Amino acid sequence: MTQDAIERAWDALVGTARRTVTDGLVVGTSGNVSARVGDLVLVTPSGVPYDRLTPADTVAVDLDGTQVRGRLAPTSELPMHLEIYRRTTARAVVHTHAVHATAASTLVTELPPIHYMAAALGGPVRVAPYALYGTPDLAAHMMRALDDRTGCLLRNHGTVTYGDTLDQAYDRTAQLEWMCRVWLTATSAPGHTPSLLSPAELHEAATKLSGYGQPH
Ligand code: 13P
Ligand code: ZN
Repeated sequence: MTQDAIERAWDALVGTARRTVTDGLVVGTSGNVSARVGDLVLVTPSGVPYDRLTPADTVAVDLDGTQVRGRLAPTSELPMHLEIYRRTTARAVVHTHAVHATAASTLVTELPPIHYMAAALGGPVRVAPYALYGTPDLAAHMMRALDDRTGCLLRNHGTVTYGDTLDQAYDRTAQLEWMCRVWLTATSAPGHTPSLLSPAELHEAATKLSGYGQPH
């Protein structure tokens, strides 16, 4: 992997991490972001404000978690990030403590399919059972919740999404947070219960979404 490729990936990773703060998906140093570059995984360092990160702060680990670049300690959620890279084709992972998603994670074991954008994450979004942050247990619960999905909620904690690019992983987080907000808003209307989509309706949306946007 060339130095140039690593520098460009670090720049994009820091940009995505900063966006999670400026878009209100995390507060302070909460959350973490990673990107795969060849056999390396670039990760945000633990507990360092993203606006302070420079190219000299690049942190990289191999798929076993051995640090191969940088002096700052990697994110405490390394077990979650590495499990995703070991078991999927992900190139980027975003973890946040987004408000509506975290609130919804305390109420249900699966986010009710209130909008067709659930199909963009592979179907109804599951909630992984609670485990202490940064533990292999949390990573294992997350992996089960991610079966056939590109995103899940972590009970009493937040969100995890992955994608082929940082932009795709980030967009999935933003869509997930937005869906949780829609569901919380609809369920708080007194005396009303929101209508939900059927599996067939979600399947139909998934098929159509695979051709969404401009041809390329
Ligand atoms: P880090 O600062 O170690 O990445 O931890 C933030 C977090 O969200 C833990 O769940
Ligand atoms: Zn967290």
